[in-house]
Amino acid sequence: MRIHALQTGTVAIKQRQRAGRGPGAARVAVTLADRRFTEPLPILAWLVEHPDGLILVDTGETAQAMQPGYFPAWNLYFRLGVREPVTPDEEVGPRIEALGFSPSEVRQVVMTHLHTDHAGGLHHFADSEILVAHTELGLATGRLAKVLGYLPHRWPAWFAPRAVELDGGPFGPFERSHALADGVTLVPTPGHTPGHLSVAVRTDERLVLLAGNTSYTQDLMLAGVADGVTTSPATDRETLRRIRALARSEPTVYLPTHDPDAPRRLEAMEAVGSPGAHPSR
Ligand SMILES: [Zn+2]
Repeated sequence: MRIHALQTGTVAIKQRQRAGRGPGAARVAVTLADRRFTEPLPILAWLVEHPDGLILVDTGETAQAMQPGYFPAWNLYFRLGVREPVTPDEEVGPRIEALGFSPSEVRQVVMTHLHTDHAGGLHHFADSEILVAHTELGLATGRLAKVLGYLPHRWPAWFAPRAVELDGGPFGPFERSHALADGVTLVPTPGHTPGHLSVAVRTDERLVLLAGNTSYTQDLMLAGVADGVTTSPATDRETLRRIRALARSEPTVYLPTHDPDAPRRLEAMEAVGSPGAHPSR
């Protein structure tokens, strides 16, 4: 089973978002007050060539996000906290075509969560089954959705994802899971959002964890540093602890969405903690 990294532009965020500080909900205020942006970080999505059909994990950002008025002006996070240059040919659809596939061939799209830089490319997948964790879908469609950084009014009109309950048996250190396809398992990784999930893919070589925003880099996962937008740093750290336990139990390639070193680790199938591991930022 081959996995491709698809980069849909870049995002710069506050340095305090990458490595948060402060208790509970106050972390968001600390993040926004930070004057320092990160360097442009990749916005990655992942295409899995599964024998039963293509599976896409996340859809990246849309070039529409560059248009004035795309983000709600009253939302301070979008006004102060994020810069996202994305061109139309960097969207996930053209990226899939560049690999010789068509977006309409994607059988299933799994969303790690529904923030804009993961859900921006949904409009390319009208023919696919789209899966979102039940908890995530509830928050992203609830009354506080836009305050929480979701843009439900930007989703395609046809968007009606399958709400997945992760109520299957344990997967390694994760108490619950959902078997999606042979060798592909969804695991709950709450923290960045309460309904965040990750996708474990057992390739011929290694276990690969397509990890969304569980952390911004592998080093931050290893150090157990919660991000600066979570409302529950303790939940975030518990998820990172489980990922470390998984990586100790068997060689695991850890691939978060915004880690500049993730495509290289995928190419090399480099597991967490492997002796030749290149330090990531
Ligand atoms: Zn996010």
